[in-house]
Amino acid sequence: MPDKSTSSDAPAPTAAETPQAPSAARKIYPIVKYGDAILDKPGAPVKKFDAELEQLAEDMFASMYAAQGVGLAAPQIGLSLRLAVVDVTGGKNPEAKIVLANPEIVHAEGEVREEEGCLSVPGFRGYVLRPQFVTIKAQNAKGEAFEIRGENLLARAFCHEIDHLNGILFLQHLSMLKRDLIKRKIKKLRKQGEW
Ligand SMILES: [Zn+2]
Repeated sequence: MPDKSTSSDAPAPTAAETPQAPSAARKIYPIVKYGDAILDKPGAPVKKFDAELEQLAEDMFASMYAAQGVGLAAPQIGLSLRLAVVDVTGGKNPEAKIVLANPEIVHAEGEVREEEGCLSVPGFRGYVLRPQFVTIKAQNAKGEAFEIRGENLLARAFCHEIDHLNGILFLQHLSMLKRDLIKRKIKKLRKQGEW
């Protein structure tokens, strides 16, 4: 997902200064990287809304803040579930925390081409065309349905996370040339045991 300076979940330079609530009680999940098949698989709908799901969502926020991202989808922590969290303030504003269970885009408008990255593809970024405005419908961690409209970075984060829930990575939106270049570099890193 997008970071706060531009538009990806890659580390943001200012994130280190962001005061984070201590997450001692929270589980910090390791983030699954590109190459793991779970990232290519559409998630199963969230059906059970209980205390466990609320805990999971909070643990996902903690994991996302720990990785200095602004969005995290369940497949990125190895769970094939249509659940994602987004906070484009990077933890600065508790009211900006958005839990998306079973999100769907209901309206999209405009186009913005901006650089984007992904916590599952660390160290790589690329320009992706996304809608400038999107309205999505989703359920919160309690199962309550809501609609929310996002603009620019928030719209990008919604689209990026919903893509994850459909088994799509931002790499698929890049030119074939750029995508192949990144894939080759990752392959090299993997050979060196650095991926
Ligand atoms: Zn991502």
